[in-house]
Amino acid sequence: MNLVQGYFHSMKRPLIIAGPCSAESEMQVLNTATALTELDAVKIFRAGIWKPRTKPGQFEGAGDKGLKWLQKVKQETGLLIATEVATANHAKKAIDAGIDVLWIGARTTGSPIYVQEIAEAVKGQDVKVMIKNPLHPDIDLWCGAIQRFYDAGVRDLAAVHRGFYPFEKSAFRNLPLWEIPIELQLRHKDLPIICDPSHIAGKTNHIETISQHAMDLNMAGLMIEVHENPKVALTDRSQQMFPSELNTLLKQLSIRDNQFIDHAYLSRIEQLRKEIDHIDYQLIDLLSQRQDIIKGIAKCKSEMNVNILQLQRWESILQTRLDYAETNNLSRSYVLKLLQSIHKEAIRLQSEIMRIKPSSTQDDG
Ligand code: PEP
Ligand code: MN
Repeated sequence: MNLVQGYFHSMKRPLIIAGPCSAESEMQVLNTATALTELDAVKIFRAGIWKPRTKPGQFEGAGDKGLKWLQKVKQETGLLIATEVATANHAKKAIDAGIDVLWIGARTTGSPIYVQEIAEAVKGQDVKVMIKNPLHPDIDLWCGAIQRFYDAGVRDLAAVHRGFYPFEKSAFRNLPLWEIPIELQLRHKDLPIICDPSHIAGKTNHIETISQHAMDLNMAGLMIEVHENPKVALTDRSQQMFPSELNTLLKQLSIRDNQFIDHAYLSRIEQLRKEIDHIDYQLIDLLSQRQDIIKGIAKCKSEMNVNILQLQRWESILQTRLDYAETNNLSRSYVLKLLQSIHKEAIRLQSEIMRIKPSSTQDDG
């Protein structure tokens, strides 16, 4: 994928996309957009006009008439305009109305047939496309949707990280799972990734921390929901900011440089990285030694016809290791995840070994 020539790539970090969750009236979009023109970093005005709602009977967006309001925003403010498209028909109408940026919402990204139809509808058109991650953490589905637009010839492409549905109670509306956008960046180094902290947070009070973290991970920009008066917003009321709040947030954001040229910094970081490299190799050596012991355990269990899972032993490993981790200032939940991963592999390995009966290898000869 080569996206270096694209619009999103050419923009100075951070590219700020802001605007209400939904376009509700001509006045609301114009007032919000006018307030946003005071903020230099804001380059794109966002507003949904076809809103995918969880249940019927709620405000489902202004529909086609919202396109005219967005055109007016463009004429009066000079901002680029962006809206969500969920069908090929939406995409055609938006392009005909001169919408500059189309985004694919989280619910649509999870639906390859719709994504393909939209990709075909934008083929050969001068339009920028942003693809939000699907609701659930399936990076291949996200990559697949991006690929469909790339294959349709779209080069002004960006991904939007909006978090993932939390199956359990959580402080966030959608879990950030930062490892997923990092993996996406590893797979597609030229792909600009924009963070949508509003849909991750679900409430305005987490937006600043999430935005700063996105910047620290070198993301290309932020898409933030801003409403002239969030208190009366028809959708996503608790996560929309006042324009003045966005202004404060942007002023407080530190954008750290990715290209350090300071020699003292370089030699210090080089030294620290060497130490990390050394520890990583030690960790791998230790895991390999542990693995060899597990093979011995599997052999003993097999000879004695004993079950692989010994619950008491696993309980005692967890208890002792987690207590020990805590005394070493490591968080229990972090070490728990590591231990679970190590234990899962130990079980897999033992079951692989115990399935091979010693006699069967002899029979082969
Ligand atoms: C939105 O941007 O308003 C929206 C509906 O987002 P998502 O698709 O991320 O839920
Ligand atoms: Mn929204």
